[in-house]
Amino acid sequence: MAEYIGVIHAHTTASDGRATFPEIVRAAREARLDFLITTDHNCLPQGEAGYRDGVLLIVGQEVHDEAREPQVNHLLCIGVGEDVTALAASPQRLVDAVNAQGGLAFIAHPVEFAPSYTLEPAIPWVDWDVVGVHGIEIWNYMSEFKAHATGLARGAQAAYWPTSVIIGPFPEALARWDEMLRRGPVVAIGGPDAHGWKVRRGPLNPTILPYPFLFRAVRTHLLTDDNLTGDFAHDQRLVLGALRRGRVFVAYDALGDATGFRFEAHDRAGRVGMGEAVAWRTGLRLVARAPLPAELRLLCDGIEVATQYGRSLSFAPHQPGVYRVEAYRRHARQRRGWVFSNPIYVQDAP
Ligand SMILES: [Zn+2]
Ligand SMILES: [Zn+2]
Repeated sequence: MAEYIGVIHAHTTASDGRATFPEIVRAAREARLDFLITTDHNCLPQGEAGYRDGVLLIVGQEVHDEAREPQVNHLLCIGVGEDVTALAASPQRLVDAVNAQGGLAFIAHPVEFAPSYTLEPAIPWVDWDVVGVHGIEIWNYMSEFKAHATGLARGAQAAYWPTSVIIGPFPEALARWDEMLRRGPVVAIGGPDAHGWKVRRGPLNPTILPYPFLFRAVRTHLLTDDNLTGDFAHDQRLVLGALRRGRVFVAYDALGDATGFRFEAHDRAGRVGMGEAVAWRTGLRLVARAPLPAELRLLCDGIEVATQYGRSLSFAPHQPGVYRVEAYRRHARQRRGWVFSNPIYVQDAP
């Protein structure tokens, strides 16, 4: 099995980001990403996707209804060939159009808070009755940054020492995901929502969360049976296939490289990994392994059923359910989210 690390959710000058495509590719290469998925607002730049300077660049889009006030419902549309912005006014028709193209629709920054002193208003997802969404961005670095920047001092702390303020996905976002999982499989991703914005506050003119920094922060790791080959069509299929199947985990690699993290179910019949289903029977074990010591939590249907500090956790499930793992590490004397697995679906034996 191969593991590849990439970033999903970044903006270029095609919308409101500061980097051109060559500049964003340079930042991705600096951060040693295997792949980058850009998601500019309400446009789908053509002729940019491909291998660029050794980086697999996939071009998606982030679509929302510009006429709706207040702003809500940003949808990441990945693997679409045709721009779906024209359908933004109806989230359901938008999701249906993404699915009709064989693409993947992910709810972006589902939960947001808007302190008074901030760059932007809160832009949560509100249409929770929409069906057919493939996944959800459980951890958006920019949402967390925005929520923290409640005043000049805290804003400056967030701008100059971002790792001190980033704690993990909002519990409300994880709860939304767990709620969606009750109705069927939903794939979690995490992303930086990178813009490379400059802010002006008196004499200060920092770039807020520059691209190369963010591309080492919250990332999505993919597990694939096949290797990347350098052939764009093949490799784009491989990346989108792993996202489709949920063979991915979200990692805040700035706290320690999470490469090698695994969550699997084993029994005599074999083993399955994240995104897969397994029948519940005697002898089944769920095993999480981490490359660095961490607080490992196993959850069933959103409720903790086991916890262990170390590099591994092994558990015999008492019941069917949606099982997933969270791993936490300490940084600057605070407990912080590190790895969030996708689920293994333990089902009633037929
Ligand atoms: Zn957005
Ligand atoms: Zn965005």
